[in-house]
This record gives sequence, C-alpha cells and structure tokens, in this order.
Amino acid sequence: MSDSSQRFLFEDLDLRGEVVQLDETLKTACANHSYPAAIARLLGEGMAAAALMRATIRTDGTLTLQVEGEEGAAVSMVLVHADPEGTLRGTVRYQGEPREGGLARLCGAGRLAITIEPENGQRYQGIVGLDENGLAATLEGYFHDSEQLPSRLHLACDGERAGGMLIQQLPPESRSVVERERDPDAWARIGYLAETLSDRELLERDHHEILHRLFHQETVRVFEAQPLAFRCRCSGDRIAAVLRGLGREEVEQVLAEEGAVEVRCEFCGARYRYDSVDVAQVLADVAAAPGSDSYH
Ligand SMILES: [Zn+2]
Repeated sequence: MSDSSQRFLFEDLDLRGEVVQLDETLKTACANHSYPAAIARLLGEGMAAAALMRATIRTDGTLTLQVEGEEGAAVSMVLVHADPEGTLRGTVRYQGEPREGGLARLCGAGRLAITIEPENGQRYQGIVGLDENGLAATLEGYFHDSEQLPSRLHLACDGERAGGMLIQQLPPESRSVVERERDPDAWARIGYLAETLSDRELLERDHHEILHRLFHQETVRVFEAQPLAFRCRCSGDRIAAVLRGLGREEVEQVLAEEGAVEVRCEFCGARYRYDSVDVAQVLADVAAAPGSDSYH
C-alpha cells in the first residue's frame, strides 16, 4: 500500500470524497518514539484526519490538527501538521503507559483545534469539543458547526498503518447541479455505501479497490492521487532559535548541571547536542542565526 491521498467526485451528485492511506508515514512518525499501541493508533488516526482535512481546503496553507486532553488525562496533546506538498509530521504527549482506549478514554473531555495558516492571508482557527464517539465523530461535528457541510468520516489505524475516508457535500459555490435536478436520495445512498467500508478494507486494500467496491454503481470521477510522506522541519537553526528563546540564564544552568544541552525533536526524535562552545556561539549570535548544520 502506498502513502497517498486520493480525491474523487460524484459529479452529478455534488458530493466529494477523499481516501487517505498511510504506511511508511506513520511508521516513520513512530520510529524514534516508543509509543504504546494505543498512542500509536491515536497518532495514526490524527495523521489520517489531518491529511483528509488538508485535502479539503483550497488555500496553500499548512493545516494543524491539535487535540488537547482534559487536565489529568493520559494524553495531554495530539499534534499533527499537514503541508500542501503532502508532508505530515505529528507527535503525542502522554503520561504513563496507556494500554487501550480511543480518543475519549485517553483525552477525556478535551477539545480539538483546527488551524489553517495560509502562505499569505488570514490565519483561521476552529475549535470543537471532543465527541465521545471518537475523532471521526468530532470532525463531523466540526464540519457541521463551522462550515455547515454535511460530512461522513471514517478513520482507522492498527498502530502501523492508518486510513481515512471522507464523504462531503460540496460547498455551495462549487455545486453544479441545479436544485430541481438534484437527486434527493444521494446523500443517504452514498452514506449507506460508505458505511459498509470496514477498518480492515481501509487499511489493507488500495484506494482503487475501495472506490470500486463501494461505488461501482455510481459515476465517480477520480483525480490523480497525491503522494504523502513524513517530513520533519527541525534543523540546527530552529533548535538554536528555541534555545535563544529560553534565555541565557536557563540554558547556562542546564549546561552547568548536565555538561551539555541536549534537545530532542518531538516529531522525528532527532537529537541536537550543544556543548559549552556551541552554547556560547548560539547565545552570542542573537542577531543572525548561526549556520549550525554541524549540530546534527
Ligand atoms: Zn525533527
């Protein structure tokens, strides 16, 4: 199975869809972390969801999906960034060794924030409470409340692979079917067919097979699939900027106690180590960021 996002359209029904499948992307996101299975599943669902959401927006911006757990919950945060180029990165902050449980059990009565940051233009953020039925139900609520778009989502993850499918009414400005010619049963029929998709099919069959199995009696236009991959944006420069943001006093205190300052990227797990010479250089060079590839 390849990592991709596949757009499709029921042209004469004014409905759109997207199938996302993640394999290497999720494995890479989990590679340098020892996530318990329940946490890896949560991350996988979050990454599939972010890729689906990213595919529905028309701007070029980055989409961030951020789940914040209730105070004291096993999971305090699930954070996923999805870029228009098809790259994803994500991480989960948790405590203890949660063994099982979905979103509601792991995060309690938390909330979900969707943030879209276009290259140019206004940043947008929508926030909804977590639905006890999981992330897919939470996002259906988000689409309903913030965009008034009837949507059906299916998310699945077995800890190694993740998948998602979205079926959604087109926004009013994109609809092409005149009202009197609209099929009144379309939403119910397509929704019923979509509901027959099993988690296993979503994780094991490729998107052509899935679309054929579900919708072979419908007229479906299938677009070119977009490849997806994990990519982290951390770098020596970015970590140095974080250290400068912490301030001289705190950084020098860690240096004195530990002999070096070590920072671990929470997305890819890369370690950045700064000895006393490096730290002096980072702190001295406040105006211009040092070229710090040597810190890798
Ligand atoms: Zn990184």
